[in-house]
Amino acid sequence: MLRNDMLEKWDRDSFFHPSTHLAEFARGNAPQRVIRTGQGCHIEDRDGTRLLDAFAGLYCVNVGYGRTDIADAIAEQARELAYYHAYVGHGTEASITLAQMVLDRAPEGMSKVYFGQSGSDANETNIKLVWYYNNILGRPEKKKIISRWRGYHGSGLMTGSLTGLELFHKKFDLPLAQVIHTEAPYYYRRDDLDLSEEQFTDHCVAELEALIEREGADTIAAFIGEPVLGTGGIVPPPAGYWDKMQAVLKEHDILLIVDEVVTGFGRLGTMMGSDHYGLKPDLITIAKGLTSAYAPLSGSIVGEKMWKVLEKGTDENGPIGHGWTYSAHPIGAAAGVANLKLIDELNLVQAAGDTGAYFQNALKDALGNHAKVGEIRGEGLMAAVEFVADRDNRTFFDASEKVGPRVAAALLEHGVIGRAMPQGDILGFAPPFCMTREEADEVAGKTAKAVASVL
Ligand code: PLP
Repeated sequence: MLRNDMLEKWDRDSFFHPSTHLAEFARGNAPQRVIRTGQGCHIEDRDGTRLLDAFAGLYCVNVGYGRTDIADAIAEQARELAYYHAYVGHGTEASITLAQMVLDRAPEGMSKVYFGQSGSDANETNIKLVWYYNNILGRPEKKKIISRWRGYHGSGLMTGSLTGLELFHKKFDLPLAQVIHTEAPYYYRRDDLDLSEEQFTDHCVAELEALIEREGADTIAAFIGEPVLGTGGIVPPPAGYWDKMQAVLKEHDILLIVDEVVTGFGRLGTMMGSDHYGLKPDLITIAKGLTSAYAPLSGSIVGEKMWKVLEKGTDENGPIGHGWTYSAHPIGAAAGVANLKLIDELNLVQAAGDTGAYFQNALKDALGNHAKVGEIRGEGLMAAVEFVADRDNRTFFDASEKVGPRVAAALLEHGVIGRAMPQGDILGFAPPFCMTREEADEVAGKTAKAVASVL
């Protein structure tokens, strides 16, 4: 085994880490941790430090670490057939089975699954399909995509544009012109409007209507949204939000893309986030929970209405000119099949709902009275604690105080991983579905200690 000091040197010399302060990393001031193994909700680094991962990696290791069923399925697939492409009608038993399993779990009205590698590329696929669809329908002007401020949809050119977080735009010349953003459904942060929750929903809907009016419905192709805002701060929508938003989109013939990269396959305590909020998507984006991150695989689930037009399009234009070398990669597909089976066998969707409710209560019991804790919120196994300088007025801390990152760092000292969300002083949690109640209590208790040490 390589010595740790050697590995750390190579890491600094050679490895370009995503979402990292490069200069601080080079100076040795940023965290550097080499992870060696994982089991259940815990990971362990090369120094033997064991951490309770209450963010499931990047809210993706939904079934927990160390699942040998999935590892065996991957190994077996690699031995049998590591790769063959999915172009021009090719498939494998794993990819075809997984497509069927995904559709069995998707909301009514969905027709086919296109497989990619990451959430970002699946969203790129969805936008291309939307544009293709409108071109086939003879509506070349209907191309703009509405996204929400604080939405997160990836960090490619288009998906980074759809993402409504400043960090992902800054200095990259994003967002692209076809993308327009609307109000984030973030009730807690819009106290300046002095509205009830229902009135705030109506405000979001009115903002959407005004945007459509301004831009012209005949120029807008689709709306994309996460059922619960994730990277933007773990924010469940205000009451009635999705019903009313959907009605407006339908009225203006604007397609709905539901980004279920985080919520797909159980995280909200329902199989899909769409089930949870009664969404009727035209397209669904899936990734993380599809394989619980045991192998990279994503998907675009296409609704029947769009599918008919896509088929017609290929009669007119020939084969669809869109594909990745690794579309429906057999190893990813084998991981997906084993993962979805495991979720069923262990009843993990129900567990996510039950443990999620328990965990949120535990956080409220441990932290609810703290003067600097403004809101504790969540849905299923997504939870957030938002810190404020003054609870009554909901005043922000100055960004230079880095409250969120400091609390996350203090929590890490207690052996628990939470995530300082990129915008605002928000500590996020999205643990594996196998988290026990004892572990939920441990996370809540240690978070309270971490908060007390910082604030
Ligand atoms: N969509 C959502 C809702 C996400 O949370 C993410 C990643 O966190 C993505 C898309 C992008 O997925 P990936 O990082 O696999 O490209």
